[in-house]
Amino acid sequence: MSSPAAVTTPAFDPAAIRLDFPILQQQVNGQPLVYLDNAATTQKPEAVIEAISHYYRHDNANVHRGAHTLSDRATVAFENARTTVARFINSPAPSQVIWVRGATEAINLVANSWGRGNLRAGDRILVSYLEHHSNIVPWQLIAAATGAEVIPIPVTAGGDIDLDALASLLDERVKLVAVNHVSNALGTINPVAQISRMAQAVGAVVMVDGAQATAHMAVDVQAIGCDFYAFSGHKLFGPTGIGVLWGRASLLEAMPPFLGGGEMIDSVSFTGSTWNTLPFKFEAGTPDIAGAIGLAAAIDYLDGIDMEAAARHEVALLEQSIALGAEVEGLRRIGDPAQSVGIFSFVIDGIHPSDLGMLLDQQGIAVRTGHHCAQPLMTHYQLPGTARASYSLYNTAEDVERLFAGIHKAKRLFG
Ligand code: PMP
Repeated sequence: MSSPAAVTTPAFDPAAIRLDFPILQQQVNGQPLVYLDNAATTQKPEAVIEAISHYYRHDNANVHRGAHTLSDRATVAFENARTTVARFINSPAPSQVIWVRGATEAINLVANSWGRGNLRAGDRILVSYLEHHSNIVPWQLIAAATGAEVIPIPVTAGGDIDLDALASLLDERVKLVAVNHVSNALGTINPVAQISRMAQAVGAVVMVDGAQATAHMAVDVQAIGCDFYAFSGHKLFGPTGIGVLWGRASLLEAMPPFLGGGEMIDSVSFTGSTWNTLPFKFEAGTPDIAGAIGLAAAIDYLDGIDMEAAARHEVALLEQSIALGAEVEGLRRIGDPAQSVGIFSFVIDGIHPSDLGMLLDQQGIAVRTGHHCAQPLMTHYQLPGTARASYSLYNTAEDVERLFAGIHKAKRLFG
């Protein structure tokens, strides 16, 4: 009998994980790269790059249509990738996993397809102040088209959704509640299961934007209990151009197609066309086959990593940042959410965030600066923007030290 120790996950070691990511092994502007822009996009491990390359070298063909070996191989790999995603988010069935280009397209799909059939004048769509523009603007567009109204859900000074305010906004006029699982600007982890229960109690449908969540925590759509969940492959160590919309089967079944074309039909005639079954009804045209395979490779790669330890490590980097930030005169952290992933958003008196970003880049340190596609949130804080260091499982304590050495240098230059 093997001892329990033989089956435990190896100790979490970011320095070792780093070696799996070829892009991190380079110098930028004469310094070893410190990549702290993971909320914008994550880097890709060798396993993902290799899976995409292997597909194009050996299996490339169109899916679901060719009567030949390569097409069969491509179709099997593509549908296996869907099954991998279904397992990853605990979907009851792979047919509820719809391939899209990313979180943005997923939300637009729901706004258009579900919204056109279900929204009318007088209806309300609640959208939190924490949202990325991609979970605001699609709702504004469909509201304008249907006569529904978009109402913002306030956030607290610390950057949490104000649940009391949400409760007072919820009534039978509310048809949809749109919230993110994790805020890209502040790192807030929202209580999406609780929000789903609150919204569904008045009959509203819940759209969760999971773009920032999947790389940091186990996501279980059934435990959350939401109606739709969206995410992007590129923020999960997979390629750009592929993402997922997960939906409740009864809602997806009742929704009309979003885009028309090949693959999504059952039959086409000039007297009328009929639609394919789920998920194909929502997948018009040739999909991003290599992207789906690359995303599945990223999920397989993460299977070998203790993600709870990774999340603790990222929060430790945030705590290190908060402690080092307290020693920098004029530095102010923006937001202090009750629960957060490793995102450190900050401003420094007398240094514009974009100047800071440029000075850090000269030292090989990549951060994001600006409004983070969350202008209503910036308005809430009365700021034009912030600088943001967003940590991932391959970042180290040395990366944080390099960031703060860079900040001190920038302060000297501006002081
Ligand atoms: N939602 C959030 C919270 C995000 O951070 C982002 C990307 N910054 C998106 C949605 C949009 O994702 P994508 O651009 O991959 O569609």
